[in-house]
Amino acid sequence: MKICIDAGHGGGDTGAVGPTFLKEKDVNLKVALFLGDILKLNGIEVVFTRTTDTRFGNTSNESLSRRVKIANESGSDYFISIHCNSAENRSANGTEVFIYNERSKAKDMAEKILNQIVNTMGFRDRGVKTANFYVIKYTTMPACLIEIAFISNPNEEKILADEKNQRKIALCIAKGIGEALGINIVEYKKGKVNAKAGLNVRKGPSTQYPIVKVLKYGEEIKIYAIEDGWYKIDDGWVYGQYVDLV
Ligand SMILES: [Zn+2]
Repeated sequence: MKICIDAGHGGGDTGAVGPTFLKEKDVNLKVALFLGDILKLNGIEVVFTRTTDTRFGNTSNESLSRRVKIANESGSDYFISIHCNSAENRSANGTEVFIYNERSKAKDMAEKILNQIVNTMGFRDRGVKTANFYVIKYTTMPACLIEIAFISNPNEEKILADEKNQRKIALCIAKGIGEALGINIVEYKKGKVNAKAGLNVRKGPSTQYPIVKVLKYGEEIKIYAIEDGWYKIDDGWVYGQYVDLV
């Protein structure tokens, strides 16, 4: 199973901007990266259209067609585009998920993602809707475009700005995907330090990063992401060889 994750906007294209200047492109990217971590942790292959704050091409059309090209060439089974909504009326609020048409094979997944977000985050349910959006129209696999909440709404902007909520939203999306695919999604895996002399926790996934703390033999940890044999835990990264999964 392979999922293409598309963090909307990027670089000079900020997307919508909230009342306290939170940029949609940044929220989209954070949620996308957290979502990728969770899916990979659960054995699902992930392809990103972007993993940094970049813009494809010079126009919005170029950017959209690049995203579609990446998705279509990746052989992904599903395409998930992540956005935040915006309206002139600052009281507009809630979550909606778009599919290209009623017959889309992504409809069931879209409904499950929407329910997860609405039930967990307490956002208003605006429903699954159809739209002609470029990225869900031209991708060759079932595709959803998620409008998580309204960045133009002061309350929702505040929620979207918080990294803990970004991770929570990513988990909702992952659970919706998992439900549609029959995969039980876990937020983290449990591990136990097996290095007798203790285990260095580093700032990043390599020995080039500084040590932030040392864990004791037998200590239990939560693993949120796996990257090149390194495990992301609460305070940093540890080398996977020194941890037993429990
Ligand atoms: Zn957007």
